[in-house]
Amino acid sequence: MNRRTFIKTSAIGSLFSIHSRGASTDLHTITEPEREIPIRDEFDVIVCGAGPAGVCAAIEAGRSGAKTLLLESQGCLGGIWTAGLLCWILDGYQKGGLVKELYERLENENAGFPDRGGNRAFAYDAEMMKWLLEDLCREAGVHILLHTAVRATRVKNRQVDLVITESKSGRQAWKGSVIIDCTGDGDVAAQAGCGYEVGRPGDQAAQPMSLLGLITGVYYDEIEPFVRRKDESGAATKARLLKEIERGGYSPSYKKPGIYPIYDDLFMLMANHEYGYSSFDAGEVTEATMHARAELFHIIKSLRSLGGSWKNVQLVATAEQIGIREGRRIHGLYTVTKEDLVRGAEFEDAVCRVSFGVDVHSVQKEDEIRSYNQGIRSKDYDIPLRSLIARDVNGLMMAGRCISGDFIAHSSYRVTGNAAAMGQAAGRVAAMAARSGVLPQHIPFKETGIRN
Ligand SMILES: Cc1cc2nc3c(=O)[nH]c(=O)nc-3n(C[C@H](O)[C@H](O)[C@H](O)COP(=O)(O)OP(=O)(O)OC[C@H]3O[C@@H](n4cnc5c(N)ncnc54)[C@H](O)[C@@H]3O)c2cc1C
Repeated sequence: MNRRTFIKTSAIGSLFSIHSRGASTDLHTITEPEREIPIRDEFDVIVCGAGPAGVCAAIEAGRSGAKTLLLESQGCLGGIWTAGLLCWILDGYQKGGLVKELYERLENENAGFPDRGGNRAFAYDAEMMKWLLEDLCREAGVHILLHTAVRATRVKNRQVDLVITESKSGRQAWKGSVIIDCTGDGDVAAQAGCGYEVGRPGDQAAQPMSLLGLITGVYYDEIEPFVRRKDESGAATKARLLKEIERGGYSPSYKKPGIYPIYDDLFMLMANHEYGYSSFDAGEVTEATMHARAELFHIIKSLRSLGGSWKNVQLVATAEQIGIREGRRIHGLYTVTKEDLVRGAEFEDAVCRVSFGVDVHSVQKEDEIRSYNQGIRSKDYDIPLRSLIARDVNGLMMAGRCISGDFIAHSSYRVTGNAAAMGQAAGRVAAMAARSGVLPQHIPFKETGIRN
C-alpha cells in the first residue's frame, strides 16, 4: 500500500484549545488542531467490519476481481463468529454460496457439524473459523487490516469517497469507489450522515447484549438433558438448565440460558442478558462486558458446586467482544418490514431468502419471559438488494444487521446465515459497480447472477 497524498483533518495534537461548557471545571470541549493525514491507498471496494457479513463481502469482492480492503477493529476476522464466540450458525442450512462453502471447509477439517441435537443449525470451532476466514481472504487477494477502526468518512458531492481509520499507525485515509458498512452498528453510514433507526419504535429501547463463553470439563452424554435438542421444545431444555443453575445457588440474568454443543467436551454457553446499555457508548459497553463476564464465572461456580456431571466444568474462554444484538438500522432504498415477513415477500432483486422467524429478546428485564415471536407468524421472505444500498449518500452499501429494516424484521434477518449471504451479494455488486464506474443501484440485477 503506497503513501499517495494527504488530506487535512483535525486530530488531538500537542497543542489544543479548551472551551468550558459550563460552570463545572471538568466539563470541557477541546478544538483539535487541523493536521494532514496520509491517504494511504486507493481501492475498488472497502469493506468496514469483518463479521459474517463483512468477511463474505470482502471474499466475494476479491474473487470478483476488485482490489479490496477489509478493515476490522478486533484482532481476528469473523466478528460474532469468532471474537464473539458464537459457534452456532442459524438460517444457513438451506443456503448455497459462501455459507455452503464454509460449512464444507469446516466439515473437512472436522471442525464444523450440523447440530447433533437435530436443530437446523451448524456448530463450529471458533479457532478454526478464524484461520479459515483468513485463508479464504488471502486466496481472494483481499488486503486485511486488523486492529484498525473506521472513525470518519469524507462525503463529496453526496458520494462517500474515503474512510479514515485509527490504529497503531495513527489516523490514515483510504479511498474507495464503493464502501460497504458491515460494522453491525452502522458506524460508517452514521459517520457519513445517513439517517437510521435504533431499537423499537417509540422509546428506541434495544434488545439486550449477551457475552458468550466456552465451557469444557463436561461431556455431551452426561449433560444431554440440558443441551439444545430438536425432539423437545428449546424452552423445555432451557427451563431445565435455569433450574440447575439456580439449584447451585445463582440466578442468571437470562431466564432462558442455553448450552450449545460443539465437540463432545466443548460447548458454547449463552446465559446472560445485559439490559439498557448502548452499543455506541464505550463506557456502557465496558460496563455490560464486565458485568456479564463476572456473571459467567458465577454461573459456572454454581454448576460446579452441584458435583456429579458438573464437578469439573470450567469456563475456558469468554468472548473478546460482547454480543450486540442491535445497533443502527441504516435507511436504505428499501426498508424490510414486519409486513414483508407476514406476507412472505418475494422481490425481483432478492439477495437472500430468510427462514428464521421473529426473535425479539425482551428489551427490559420485566418482560424477560414473554414470547420471543411477539405472536407474529412469519413466512419465508426475501431481502432485496435495495435494502443494502444507502438512501442518503451514494457509493455506500450495508450488509448484515445494519441493513435497512424495521425492529421486527431485524429480529429475524439478523442471524448469521443471512448476514453472510447479504455480505456475499453486496461484495459482488460493489465489485461490479466499481469496475463499471456506476453506482450499485445502477447495476442491472439480472447481470449480477445472484440467486438467493
Ligand atoms: C448474544 C447473541 C446471540 C446470537 N445468537 C445467534 C445464533 O445462535 N446464530 C446466529 O446465526 N446468529 C446469532 N446472533 C445474531 C448474529 O450474531 C448477528 O446479528 C450477526 O453478528 C450479524 O453479523 P454482522 O456481520 O452484521 O455483525 P457483527 O458480527 O457484529 O460484525 C461486525 C464487525 O465489525 C467490526 N466493527 C465494528 N465497528 C467497527 C469500526 N468502526 N471499524 C472497524 N470494524 C468495526 C466488529 O469488530 C465486528 O467484527 C446472535 C447475536 C447475539 C448478540
